[in-house]
Amino acid sequence: MSLDQKITEVRKLLDKVQADYAPAAFANSFGAEDMVLTDIIARHYPDIGMFTLDTGRLPEETYSLMKEVADRYGIRVPVYFPDPAGVEAYVAQNGPNAFYDSVELRKSCCHIRKVEQLKRALGGKRAWITGLRREQAPTRKDLAQSEFDAVNGLQKFSPLLDWSLSDVWAYLKQFDVPYNALHDKGYASIGCAPCTRAITPGEDIRAGRWWWEDPEIKECGLHPGKRRASASVISVEKKSSMGDLALSQQSQSMEKGVEKGVEKVEEKVEDGVEKKGEHGEPLVTSPG
Ligand code: SF4
Repeated sequence: MSLDQKITEVRKLLDKVQADYAPAAFANSFGAEDMVLTDIIARHYPDIGMFTLDTGRLPEETYSLMKEVADRYGIRVPVYFPDPAGVEAYVAQNGPNAFYDSVELRKSCCHIRKVEQLKRALGGKRAWITGLRREQAPTRKDLAQSEFDAVNGLQKFSPLLDWSLSDVWAYLKQFDVPYNALHDKGYASIGCAPCTRAITPGEDIRAGRWWWEDPEIKECGLHPGKRRASASVISVEKKSSMGDLALSQQSQSMEKGVEKGVEKVEEKVEDGVEKKGEHGEPLVTSPG
């Protein structure tokens, strides 16, 4: 399916969401996938709302992008903050960076700083929209484009579920959509600053998120996912291909600086397979 066809399919789905599931809202994390949806929704779907979650630990580059989106589209995306009392109690009991100490403390931090205000943001909505893609993580392979979110009690739509990484960057390039500057510094997936790092050659595209944890369980609670007994960590061969691409991109950034991913590169990743390509897409997945 061509990119134009994929865009058409996304538009059909969003038409349906706007018509049949009002009020609906797009949970915008300002990752690359979400910038595709930001562009489509801001330009074509005035009746679909947007919101974002500020954990209090976001990188500065994400705030810069929020400002850029406001300037570009004339919208100020509503920001939901965590309950101060919850954060204060957590930090008082565990310290400011306790998420490094155990999976339980990490999930607890995510719950306090993300999950609680997600519930508030979704209050009164009939549907929410995410930028999840199936190939981002083992926990996302079995998701459906439209499914009932029993945890939050409303329908959940993921219009980009079957888009490849190349599709995302081809779209951003074609429509000159702004994106987070960290992507050009080797950050494949961007969330909170202390829990996100740039990836290195040979690493999986989601390796920079909670890198100290098992990839099979790396979700923050916003998207619980469906774990599969057979779900395997991405193969060594695939990791190698992605690493080559990461190295190529990092080298390009050093040589050319940030040029919004328009350089021609030798390789691209599509459906997890190394191919020759025309887009200078950094390695990106959605936060969350
Ligand atoms: Fe806390 Fe890290 Fe989760 Fe952000 S990503 S909410 S800092 S554990």
